[in-house]
Amino acid sequence: MAGQAENTPVDVAIIGAGFAGLYALHVLRNQGKSTRVIEAASDVGGTWFWNRYPGARCDVESLDYSYSFSNDIQQEWRWSERYATQPEILEYINFVADKLDLKKDITFNTQVVSAIFDDTRSLWNIETSTGEKIQARFCIMATGNLSLPRVPEFPGLEDFKGEWYHTGTWPHEGVDFSGKRVGLIGTGSSGMQLTPIVAEQAKEFHVFQRTANYALPAGNRPLPKDFVEAYVKDYPKKREYAVNTPVGVASFVFPEKSALEDDEAVLREKCEFFWNDGGGNVTMLSAYTDIMTNKEANERLGKFIRDKIRSIVKDPATAELLTPNDHYLGTKRLPLVSDYFETFNRPNVRLINVRKDPITRLTETGLETENAHYELDAIVFATGFDAMTGALQDIDIRGVGGVSLRDKWKDGPRTLLGLMTAGFPNMFIVTGPGSPSVKTNMVIHIEQHVEWICECIDYLQNKGLKRIDPDKQHEDDWVEHVNQVGDSTLFPLANSWYTGANIPGKPRVFMPYVAGFHVYREKCNQVAEQGYKGFALA
Ligand code: FAD
Ligand code: NAP
Repeated sequence: MAGQAENTPVDVAIIGAGFAGLYALHVLRNQGKSTRVIEAASDVGGTWFWNRYPGARCDVESLDYSYSFSNDIQQEWRWSERYATQPEILEYINFVADKLDLKKDITFNTQVVSAIFDDTRSLWNIETSTGEKIQARFCIMATGNLSLPRVPEFPGLEDFKGEWYHTGTWPHEGVDFSGKRVGLIGTGSSGMQLTPIVAEQAKEFHVFQRTANYALPAGNRPLPKDFVEAYVKDYPKKREYAVNTPVGVASFVFPEKSALEDDEAVLREKCEFFWNDGGGNVTMLSAYTDIMTNKEANERLGKFIRDKIRSIVKDPATAELLTPNDHYLGTKRLPLVSDYFETFNRPNVRLINVRKDPITRLTETGLETENAHYELDAIVFATGFDAMTGALQDIDIRGVGGVSLRDKWKDGPRTLLGLMTAGFPNMFIVTGPGSPSVKTNMVIHIEQHVEWICECIDYLQNKGLKRIDPDKQHEDDWVEHVNQVGDSTLFPLANSWYTGANIPGKPRVFMPYVAGFHVYREKCNQVAEQGYKGFALA
């Protein structure tokens, strides 16, 4: 705890110690604020603490996917691969936390269960799983967008006598699948990253697929030493460029023309280049101005990838089943993979269509679908997360008049700039719904949010103000704007976690703001420059 006498309110409570919570602690400490940081895990890292499944790595290039706030830190650290593995990212986060001596101010192994606003005193009353009560003037929710793992409620899970795991809560000691019959449920980014590695170990590997997903080769490779040295030297310029792009990535090239303007041969040549070079979320998907807004443009690239899948997978029936047919390219998160489609050419790997033959229950010895039973020693759930709102709504948060956040957001999240929600004064959300969040390089976006929030708290305290709360009309206007921008794209058409469609009963709203990080950052700066226009200060 930094600077809190017993029972004295702290300036700021921070929930979560991933990239966001750690940076918030660093900034607030430099401002001289008293803080409490509460983290459910036993150590720092957030996403990279929890997601230790085999093959886990980032899909934004490591040199971009790292803090930019300290030139000393970015000059000192060296990434070894184009896309860093989970252990390397976790080591990096620990390196930063140790360098800034952050851990001593974090309470680990502790879950925040409720946060109740005291309207008369303008204080947040926070209660933890250990029964501790904390009072704070401001509260920063650094709880993460992909931090509440979800295991589907299949009947019989408790009867299953084998081992089962969720990718988002993977055991620290690792898992050895050698000689085992393993079932994988889920073929999003996590399932696709894990597949080639577990398939090599397992005796039999059964992949239960509900939706065939697009994916692009990551093109991961070791980073040449001289390339890294030159890049690191140039970091300040690279970072400056990155924040002025839609995705917060230094290699982003602004597209100039529609995918409909290139003839077939030229388009295929471009796609072939990106396919072989790897990456893709910021290259192939951004190669033209209209891939995510025009169905015909999108379909031209989609066809290229579908043809690739058919050319890689030898068994025509398996190839067909792996070929996406129900959504536009990129409208579900586009995974970057290594040897994913190739893995289905292995004799020990079998793909099962659970769209056609749905899973009905787990049994003592395996998994049952409507038409078959699969004998399994282990099951891996790569079934994703209650994304963007899950971790926040998992906490009993109550604002002015005792209104609960769960009630306020029952038809979908409502925020101003994704930073605050009206009626919950002094509670900030890092990369909340209604901000570009998961459609960007998250570390860079986290830095932008944390700096905005901490400057705002500093501004209020310097002016002797106790309270900030979004104006309801401004919030309504922002929600409408976010929806309008979303509706001008193809994103809302897919059953993705971006829209909440992966969680039964969750309201269907496309949650990220997709006008581009650079546009959004400028809007946030303007709001601050205008004395926090759109927010009521008291
Ligand atoms: P998190 O890292 O999620 O940290 C939130 C922390 O809050 C967690 O440690 C959690 O335990 C804690 N917490 C939550 N609720 C409570 C509570 N009630 N009480 C106490 N503690 C609580 N993004 C990219 O930009 N590029 C990538 O390549 C990329 N790869 C990813 C790979 C995986 C497998 C996953 C799951 C996500 C990936 N992401 C990626 C998104 C990633 O979540 C962000 O990049 C980033 O790590 C988020 O940091 P954060 O601090 O906001 O949240
Ligand atoms: P996800 O994308 O939500 O994928 C979940 C998978 O589980 C989907 O294939 C889904 O099928 C399937 N599923 C869910 N419930 C099911 C059920 N009842 N029966 C059968 N199948 C079911 O989750 P994720 O793969 O963990 O990824 C989440 C996000 O984390 C990613 O989109 C990405 O942003 C981030 N991530 C990034 C990386 C990286 O490369 N850096 C790696 C992992 C994760 P449907 O499609 O039919 O719903």
